[in-house]
Amino acid sequence: MRDFSTDHSALALNTATLGHNLDGYGAGWSPEQVIDACAARGYGGITFWQREIGARAVEIGERVRATGMQVAGLCRTPYLTGADAGTDDEIKASIDTAAGLGTGVLTIVTGGTEPGTKGMLESQKRLAERVAAHAGYAADRRVNLALEPLNPMFGGDRTCIFTVRDALNVCEMVGADNVGIAVDVYHVWWDTTLPESLMAARGKILGYHLCDWLENTTDMLLDRGMMGDGVADLKSIRSAVEAAGYTGLCEVEVFSENNWWKCQPEKTLDVIIERFRMLS
Ligand code: ZN
Repeated sequence: MRDFSTDHSALALNTATLGHNLDGYGAGWSPEQVIDACAARGYGGITFWQREIGARAVEIGERVRATGMQVAGLCRTPYLTGADAGTDDEIKASIDTAAGLGTGVLTIVTGGTEPGTKGMLESQKRLAERVAAHAGYAADRRVNLALEPLNPMFGGDRTCIFTVRDALNVCEMVGADNVGIAVDVYHVWWDTTLPESLMAARGKILGYHLCDWLENTTDMLLDRGMMGDGVADLKSIRSAVEAAGYTGLCEVEVFSENNWWKCQPEKTLDVIIERFRMLS
């Protein structure tokens, strides 16, 4: 297992942590301000959200690399299943944005249950069909598609994969080399079968997302904890992720409407480094 206690070059920021992905939250920093602040602190990479990038993907990607950092990923495709599923053109556009940024990882939050169906299996089949239909387009642009299982409480309207095992099953249905899994501790910390599932997903893990699960969370979506403030066993989870062959960036993704999004971004960025080195 990697030792981060004196080295945070594997640390990446997901810009959602600064409140950027929702109107009215955070300090409203431009991508350039985020890049400069992360580079000055020795971060290894940044993951952006589509809405911050607009038509400036190439320019922003180049700016990140000019500082020595990487673009860790892009969040995310439109939903692929459920009542709010995006169109094929919208999905292609998100792949184009990831390619423009020069990142190898485009995250997929799948979307919920397919209209007219019940349970998960029909939706997972539909998900596999849609991922398969876009995998080649993404591969041609050197973009990998990372299926992110979400905590089961997000079933219904946001996801149809709840566990690493579910995500791996869909990967196997798709059967494309550039389709893998993003592991987010917020979504998987409770799963006692996680080490076995991760081992089965060896070689398929494309991203690792860090935060914490607060003991008394007040909001499913917007009350994530900073590493060390909750009850997830972060070191054990990372140990299992790394045992499954993952050596990439660790991306801090803290949606926190009433706490971290109210802090000065500089402070949040400093605390992330401290927690990452000590507790992650
Ligand atoms: Zn995540």
